[in-house]
Amino acid sequence: MVQYFSNYSLLPHNTFGIAAQTSIYATYETHEDVSEILSKYAGAKFLPIGMGSNLLFLSPVLDRVVLRCQNHEATVVQSTEEEVFLRVGAGWKWDEFVSYTLHKGWYGLENLSYIPGETGASAVQNVGAFGVEAGQLITAVEAVDLRTGALRVFDQSDLAYAYRHSFFKQPNEQFAWSIISVTYRLSLHFRPNLSYRAVRDEVLHRGCDMAALTALDLREIIIAIRRSKLPEIGDLGSAGSFFKNPIISLDFFQEIKSHYPDVVSFPEDEQHVKLSAGWLIDSLGWRGKRMGNVGVYDKQALVIVNYGGASGRDVRILCEAIRRDVKEAYGIELQPEVNFIE
Ligand code: NAP
Repeated sequence: MVQYFSNYSLLPHNTFGIAAQTSIYATYETHEDVSEILSKYAGAKFLPIGMGSNLLFLSPVLDRVVLRCQNHEATVVQSTEEEVFLRVGAGWKWDEFVSYTLHKGWYGLENLSYIPGETGASAVQNVGAFGVEAGQLITAVEAVDLRTGALRVFDQSDLAYAYRHSFFKQPNEQFAWSIISVTYRLSLHFRPNLSYRAVRDEVLHRGCDMAALTALDLREIIIAIRRSKLPEIGDLGSAGSFFKNPIISLDFFQEIKSHYPDVVSFPEDEQHVKLSAGWLIDSLGWRGKRMGNVGVYDKQALVIVNYGGASGRDVRILCEAIRRDVKEAYGIELQPEVNFIE
């Protein structure tokens, strides 16, 4: 069923806590619901959103029809002795979904615990953390093309998953699709991914018996690490990591490393290296700095926070100042992970 709201405040729908209002806000569950909204507002500008954990509203008033999925249904569409294929509505709160799968004994998402957002957004953003990306586990996505109203079922080869990237983030496709459902392939056997040092250190620090470590133990560890570094949604406005980690050529990396031996980096492939954007920003003294109502979080330089009452433009000014400094010092153009909405 569709519900419509006029002149609707988006303040509770963006984790940055930016005050903004949209002309129409409509919630949907099915393809038919989206078709109804498209015919009612033919010719309007649409904006599909999830929990708003990766959005920055630059203008206080949006002339848009904002679409939000409310479908939380979960259906096992196929299972084998090894794995289960689970189709879920796009409107399920991400961390509740992760917890649900682990309690069912379906594994793979444990390292993605406590990420803000919804199931639909995981398929758009290819959320990733601690060595796991949602796109590795997504096998299908049902989405409605907002330009034509047609439903399309994407399989993994259509989705173009890469670091924080998907088909739905390509320039001509961004904000042009409303996700209805996402299918995840989950394992019936728990194989902990301890590839990130922070995770291994916490496992050791807690004196956990590796052989007895459960997926729920690992989830608890991931949640503890995230809580120690990232602001709690609701306490302080933010959109998590604000910038992507830059991926640069090996030659460029060697040049940077010769001037800055401490630079934090990880091999990406044989020709490329991923740099820690947080390290680059921190090294220039930005961590903990404040500009009016916005600032760089004191426990994690990759996070921009709204101390209360900031506008989207205040955040953008800080973002540009950081980008300028990083460009001048290292010759690197940081790219925001957050989507700016005019
Ligand atoms: P961290 O442990 O301080 O590490 C800094 C950066 O180094 C991270 O961004 C991470 O890259 C990279 N890194 C660390 N160990 C690595 C390894 N073994 N192999 C490859 N790369 C490695 O990171 P953090 O900022 O506290 O974040 C912890 C994790 O949560 C990261 O994976 C981060 O991406 C994730 N996170 C995701 C979101 C989101 O999806 N929006 C928001 C906040 C944090 P990667 O970022 O590529 O993993």
